[in-house]
Formats: sequence, C-alpha cells, structure tokens
Amino acid sequence: MFLQAIPLGGGGFVGSNLAYHLSDTGDYSVRVVDVHDDKLRLKMANNPIDFVDLDIRSDRDALDDLVRQADVVVNLAAHVHPSAFLIRPLEVVETNLFASLETVASCIRNRKFLLHFSTSEVYGKTGGSEEPFREDETDCILGPIGNHRWIYSCAKQMLDRIIHAHGLAGELDYAIVRPFNFVGPLMDGLVPRWTREDNPRVLANFMSALIYDRPLELVNGGRSRRCFTFIDDGVDALELIIRNRDRVNRQIFNIGNPGNETTIADLARLMVRLYRAHCDPKASGEIRTVSGDSFYGPGYEDCDRRLPDISKIQGLGWAPRHDLEETFRRCVIYFHRNRAHLESMLKDATSPSRALPPSGDSDERTMRPTAASGRHGSPNS
Ligand code: NAD
Ligand code: UDP
Repeated sequence: MFLQAIPLGGGGFVGSNLAYHLSDTGDYSVRVVDVHDDKLRLKMANNPIDFVDLDIRSDRDALDDLVRQADVVVNLAAHVHPSAFLIRPLEVVETNLFASLETVASCIRNRKFLLHFSTSEVYGKTGGSEEPFREDETDCILGPIGNHRWIYSCAKQMLDRIIHAHGLAGELDYAIVRPFNFVGPLMDGLVPRWTREDNPRVLANFMSALIYDRPLELVNGGRSRRCFTFIDDGVDALELIIRNRDRVNRQIFNIGNPGNETTIADLARLMVRLYRAHCDPKASGEIRTVSGDSFYGPGYEDCDRRLPDISKIQGLGWAPRHDLEETFRRCVIYFHRNRAHLESMLKDATSPSRALPPSGDSDERTMRPTAASGRHGSPNS
C-alpha cells in the first residue's frame, strides 16, 4: 500500500504530528496544506516535506487540483481555540463549516475518501448524565444562542450531519473522528504575555504560567472534567482508521482516553508537581480561580464533562498507551526543553498577528510546494 494523503490544515498541532507519523511508516506520501508551516518544520526536522501554502477559503480550483491527486483527504482546517469562538465567532463558522463544505464537495466530485475532524465538543454538555458519550446514541446538548461558545460545536455538528447525508445518498466515502482533548508536543504556543486574544488551550496556558512564573488560572474553579489523550496515541488511531478505510466507511469514531479523566483543578496540581520534579524545584506553582466571563469574555459556557465511549475504535485494535502522569510528564518536559523554539517559532494561532486574513482579501493564490529543511533543529522529544 502506498497512499497519497493530503492533510488540509495539516500544519497545526494534530496535522504536524500526523504528517510525521504517516511519513514515518513509509506507506504514505504526505502533502500538507496550510497557511503556516512553522510547527511542521519543528516536527519534521531534517526530513523533507511537501508543503502547499494555501488558504482553503481562497481558491476552489487549487483545492480541487490537490484533492484530485490524493488517495485520502484529511480535513483538519479549523479555528479550534475556545477564545476564538468567543472573539471571532463568524470566522469560526466560515472556516469550520463553509470552507469545509468546499472540501466535502471536492471529495464527492473526485470520489476521494475523506477523513474528517469533528470534535468531542459536538456532544456539548452532559445534561446531568454520567454515561460516556457514544458516537451513534448520545444526544448533542448545547446552551442558548447567547452563549456563543457553542458556535464551534454547532458548526462542526452541522458538517457531521451534512457528511452523513452525503453518505446516505451514496456519494461520499468518509470516516468522521471526534478527538477528546489531544495534548502533546506542538500544541499551541507559549504566551509570555497573556491576553484574551492570545489565549491558547489549557496545556499551553498552564505551561506558560509555570515558565513565566504567573499563577495557573482555573476557570470557574476548575471543576470541569476532561479526558486528555496523548497525541502519539491519537495519531496511531488516525492511521489505523486510514488503513482500514474500507471497513470503517461512513462511520464516526471517538478517539480518547477515558482512563485519563481529571478535573482541571487536579490537572493544575499535577502539572505543578511535574514541573517542580523535572524542571524547576523552586517554581512557585501558585493556582487561583477566575470567572469564565473575565477569562474568555461574555458568552462563555463550559462543557462540564467529556467522557468517551471508545468501544468502536477499540474494535479496530486500538487502545491508548499513555496514562495521565506519563502524558503530562512528556508535555511538561517538552515545553521546558523547547522553550526557546516555542517562543521564537510559535505565536498562538488566535493572536491577531496569526489570524488568517478574511477570505475576500486572499485574491492572490499562493501555492508553493517547499521542502522544509529543518533549519530549526529537532525538538521532537
Ligand atoms: P490547530 O489550530 O493546531 O490546527 C488547525 C490548522 O488549520 C492550523 O494550522 C491552521 O493554520 C489551519 N487552518 C485554519 N484555517 C485554514 C484555512 N482557511 N486554510 C488552510 N489552513 C487553515 O488545531 P488542532 O488541535 O491541530 O486541531 C486539528 C483539527 O482537530 C481541528 O479540525 C479541530 O477542530 C479538531 N479537534 C482537535 C482536538 C484536539 O484535542 N486538538 C479536539 C477536537 C477536535
Ligand atoms: N481552562 C482553565 N484555565 C486555562 C485554560 C482553560 O481552567 O488557563 C479550562 C477551560 O475552562 C475548560 C478546560 O480548562 O474547562 C479545557 O479548556 P481548553 O481550552 O483546553 O479546551 P476545551 O476542552 O474547553 O475545548
């Protein structure tokens, strides 16, 4: 088997790790499409990669050309930070729903298999149920429109339903994956100066607080629960799905580690302990509580708990291998060791300097395959 895989939005956290893993198997040629390649360069080090600098909103024909050449199209392109859902809700819909519709249409036209990234956030809130989220049974429960944090979930859910409908019509082969809080190397940038606009996901926020000696901030007391999944486990599952694409056709899969469930408050305490043990024994490790409104702005509401049922993906022979302690030990050491790289290379994707231009400004198509050459060393461990 030798497949051409095209990860759209493949220069981000999951995409860079996936591109590396697929290339490493020797069974795939990988052509990454994104508007940033800095994470990819960090990850791929001295390995040559095929990178296409393209805003998927800007040029339908360019996208179609790329899809036509692929065996598997992986749709990762999205705005993913909760802070972006609050600050730029319309951009979230534009990329996560409308631009992705073009990708779906192109896969249908060219009869290509689509591996689409949905999200565990599609399930929304638990509504008080203690049951794990099941792909084919669990209701999706979102808050009121005024709590526009849910716009991301809603956009992703709409796309899942459209993809499902194309499958029912017999015109699209696909698998949908719902990651549950993947964490690991290359997840978001360090933020020396935190602002609401430059506000990454919890791992990078807590790491920044530890590194720059600020208090770790627990939103609304850190009572919410998440199941954190180490990225290496995640990409193993993704490759398994691609490899078994005939068998998994038109199905949805949770990918997560239910054994790693923790409250955010316990996560903060774990990260302080690991940072003191492996990086700086004198770290102050102060932890304080902030309100959701002051941290994110008005319109925030949290998912109280996200517990996956993973029996479907386990049926393919997958099981997560990294427990919570090992997952965050690796993350803490990685961010500490690669601080200089992460500061110089990775500005948070939600910051204005990294925001994508509105699609109307992108009339000039840039499509330049480049061989990333590892000029930044090899911070892969
Ligand atoms: P990320 O922000 O690191 O990666 C997303 C990438 O998409 C970025 O590199 C960005 O530049 C690119 N992108 C956005 N708009 C684009 C456009 N118009 N054209 C080209 N590229 C564009 O996020 P991630 O954590 O790697 O997430 C990848 C996917 O997985 C997303 O679809 C996300 O919704 C989904 N997901 C991730 C997690 C997780 O735990 N990381 C959880 C649930 C769902
Ligand atoms: N959170 C927190 N402090 C931070 C960042 C996030 O307490 O500095 C909380 C957030 O309110 C949520 C959880 O941590 O309950 C996970 O947030 P993240 O942004 O990583 O993504 P989510 O799982 O909400 O999509």
